[in-house]
Formats: sequence, structure tokens, C-alpha cells
Amino acid sequence: MPQNQLIEIAYFAAAVLFILGLKLLSSPRTARGGMHLAELGMTIAIAGTLLDHHIITYTWIVVGAAVGAVAGVIIAVWTPMTAMPQRTALSHAFGAAAAALVGISHYYSEGAHLPSGTMVALGIEVMLGSLTFTGSMVAFAKLQGWLPGAPITYKGQNVFNLLLMLGIATATVWVIVNPHASPLFYTMVGLALAFGVLFVIPIGAADMPVVIALLNSYAGLAGAATGFALDNKILVIAGTLDGASGLILSIIMCKAMNRPITNVLFGAFGKPPEAGADSAVKGSVRSISTEQAGELLAGSESVVVVPGYGMAVSQAQHAVKELADVLAERSIDVKYAVHPVAGRMPGHMNVLLAEAGVPYDQLYDMDHINDDFQRADVAIVIGANDVVNPAARNNKASPIYGMPILNADQAKSVLVLKRSMAPGFAGIENELFTMPNCMMVFGDAKKTISEFSAALKQKAKAA
Ligand code: NAP
Repeated sequence: MPQNQLIEIAYFAAAVLFILGLKLLSSPRTARGGMHLAELGMTIAIAGTLLDHHIITYTWIVVGAAVGAVAGVIIAVWTPMTAMPQRTALSHAFGAAAAALVGISHYYSEGAHLPSGTMVALGIEVMLGSLTFTGSMVAFAKLQGWLPGAPITYKGQNVFNLLLMLGIATATVWVIVNPHASPLFYTMVGLALAFGVLFVIPIGAADMPVVIALLNSYAGLAGAATGFALDNKILVIAGTLDGASGLILSIIMCKAMNRPITNVLFGAFGKPPEAGADSAVKGSVRSISTEQAGELLAGSESVVVVPGYGMAVSQAQHAVKELADVLAERSIDVKYAVHPVAGRMPGHMNVLLAEAGVPYDQLYDMDHINDDFQRADVAIVIGANDVVNPAARNNKASPIYGMPILNADQAKSVLVLKRSMAPGFAGIENELFTMPNCMMVFGDAKKTISEFSAALKQKAKAA
């Protein structure tokens, strides 16, 4: 069979596997299988690409693949689940940098002679690749705590960003029309790199998930443009799938955060909190022991568990499942309320709870559980903070105002498990903690939950 035909078949198989993989990724039940299909697709796509007769020598390809594979395995094995968002941001940065570098070297070697169609793709590839690279690096630094998580803003920021965007667009169009204008090409690269930084620094706190999804989309589009520039079909397909799914995820996250997508696209959110947003929450906090909490749980008929980032930090998911089993033995109804931005990455809580063997039919998303809180005897808030903060409903000055939250405060009693009074990701205080129906149980979530289970088992034995 001719080599070209083999490559086409490999690319076709890879494309089908990518699409099936994405489809399966849309449910926690089938997500693992989806990952494996996508991995197989990528292996076939790489193998097909390596058959290309344009390849002169395999030496540097082998060296690059080896270095990349070792780095990939190290990052995958040693990154804790809690650092997944940073890792994702870093992956977007690497992908985008690769697209930009391929485009720059392509321009450097053939720039003046490239046909205008290729030049359009190359211009978009380099522009998107450059701004996604620096934008993702800033997102990484924010999530890793190397840069302040809060929005960094200055006067006239949006106007400046808009002018910069116009400058980049003008330079890109100019270079496409006049491929000889190499100084302008490199100026465009510099401006796009700067724009990536300036576009992400004003976005902070609770809005980070949206920007990560958006950068994912940009990295995919940069990849697709690379495919057009290099006339590589699988890059076009994979990049488009990535770009489209990233955009859909951005829209879903925007809906979850109650932010219009246009605000995100133009980087117009992340305003500094208005005066009064930081005002300390008034009222006193009631703290109870794990035995007292056990008593409360023993007397309940329905419990809603609200997992948050702290559950991931403490790796409490198995203890949570065990507690749910102990409650079920007492015929207590247990449901899990999962907020779309709980934790630090989309689906974070679903992944952890699935890992612990929590049945999927006990997991409810926000829209399907929020009315149940008022009928619940106890809401157990496990390391969640921002996603149950009533300031999102009540305090117009709060940076999270308008974000839909889980109505944990409406349960008859609320048990909040955390180690201290420290705020969550958005850095703001939570008036839930001072509400009359709320009781804090301080300590590491895993230890606290295990003690709840022990207290309930003890009670059952004594009965
Ligand atoms: P959160 O608001 O960040 O609060 C987590 C809470 O967990 C903290 O208040 C912390 O309090 C507690 N905690 C930490 N370690 C703990 C441990 N070992 N045991 C017990 N408690 C522990 O979490 P969230 O309610 O899940 O909200 C998620 C936030 O992250 C939102 O603002 C969201 O926008 C943002 N975000 C989400 C994503 C995403 O894609 N899901 C991505 C980036 C950012 P103590 O320190 O006092 O224990």
C-alpha cells in the first residue's frame, strides 16, 4: 500500500478515535474508556505522521520524543490531584508554545515565499500560540500561588488591552498581505506574548476555571491553524476538536459562574472587589466536637454532602464513602451535591467520588439538588467554601456576587468541616459560618469524617 494512503488511513482512524473518546468523556461512567480511546488515537496519529516521506532524519525526532515522554510521565505521576489545574495550564502553555515555535521557524525558513493561504494560517497560529503560551503561564503561576490569585488591575486596563488587541490584529493582517515585512512579524509575536500576560492578570479568584477552559480552546485553535499551515489533516481535526470542546467548556463554566461569555472573550471581568466586599462577617461561630456531630447525624433522616476543594486536599473521598455507608445502614438518605466549579478543575469532585466508588446516581448537580436542601436534616460541607457562600446571593460588592451557589445554608442544620476560619479560593469571608443553623467541626476533613463514622458505629454498638 502506498505510504500516503497508509497515512490517510491512520489519520482517519485517529480522528474517529478522538471523536469517540470525547463522546465517552462526557460521562464519569465512561470517561476512563474515553481516555484510553483518545490515547490510542494519538498513538496512531503519531505513528502515521512518522511515516511522512518529508522526514529526512529521525535522530532529533527520537531525542525529542524521548525527552517529551520522560517529562510527561514525571509530570503525570508526581503531580498531586490538587495541582491538576496548574498542570493543565502548563500543558496548554507547552502546546501553544509548540504551535508558535513551529510557525516562527516555518516563517523564518520560507516566510517571503509562502502562499497567502498558508500565511493566513501561519499568522493565526503564531498569534494564538504566543498569547496562549504566556496567558497559560500566568494562569499556572496564579494557581500555583507564585502570583497573587486576586485580579491585578490598573486604570484604563480594558482600553489598553483592546488597543493592544487591535495592534496585534493589524500587524497580523499586514504580515499576511506582505509576508516580507519580517520586523512586523516579530513585533506581532512580541505583542501577542505581552497580550497573553495582560489578558490573564486581571482575571482572578473564582473566575479562573473559565479562563483555563478558554486557554484550552485557544491552544486547540492554534494547533488547528498549525495543521492548515503544514497541510496536516490530523492536526486540523485534533486542534478543531480541542478548540470547540474548550469553547463549549468555557460556555458551561460561564453559565455555572453566571458570567456572560462576551465578558470572558474580551477579558472584561475580574474587577477588583468594590468597597465593602471584604468587610468582616459579623456574628459568632459555633464549633462542635465530632461526637456531637455524630449525635446530630444519628438523629437525621436525610443528609446532603457538599464536597469541595478541602476534600481533595485531605483525600477524604474514601472516608466520605464509608460515612455514607454507615448512614445508609441507619436508613438515612444520602445525596451528594456537586457544584460545577467545586475543587480546582471541572469534574474534580466527580472524579474523586467515582474513585471512592460512590454510585453515580447519588451525585446531583446544582440545578437538581438545590431545592432538596430545605428538606434535608443536615448538610455536611466538606472542605467547600466559595460554592456555599451566601455572599454570592446577598452581597453586591462581593467578587463572587451573581455566581449560583449550593443552598447548603437552607438545610435544617449545616456541619462545616475545615481546619480553620481561612477563606477559600476567592479569598473572601463566608457568612454561612455564622448562621444560627451552622456548626463548624474544625480539623482535617478525612480525620473528622472518620471520627463521625466511628461515633455512629459506636452508637450502633451501644444500642
Ligand atoms: P474553596 O472555596 O477553595 O474552599 C476550600 C476550603 O477547603 C478552604 O476554605 C479550606 O479551609 C478547606 N480545606 C483545605 N484543606 C482542607 C483539609 N485538609 N481538610 C478540611 N478542609 C480543608 O473550595 P470550593 O468551595 O470547592 O470552591 C472552589 C473555588 O475554586 C471556587 O472559587 C472556584 O471558582 C475556584 N476554582 C475552581 C476551578 C474548577 O475548575 N473547579 C479551577 C480554579 C479555581 P481551611 O484552610 O480552613 O481548612
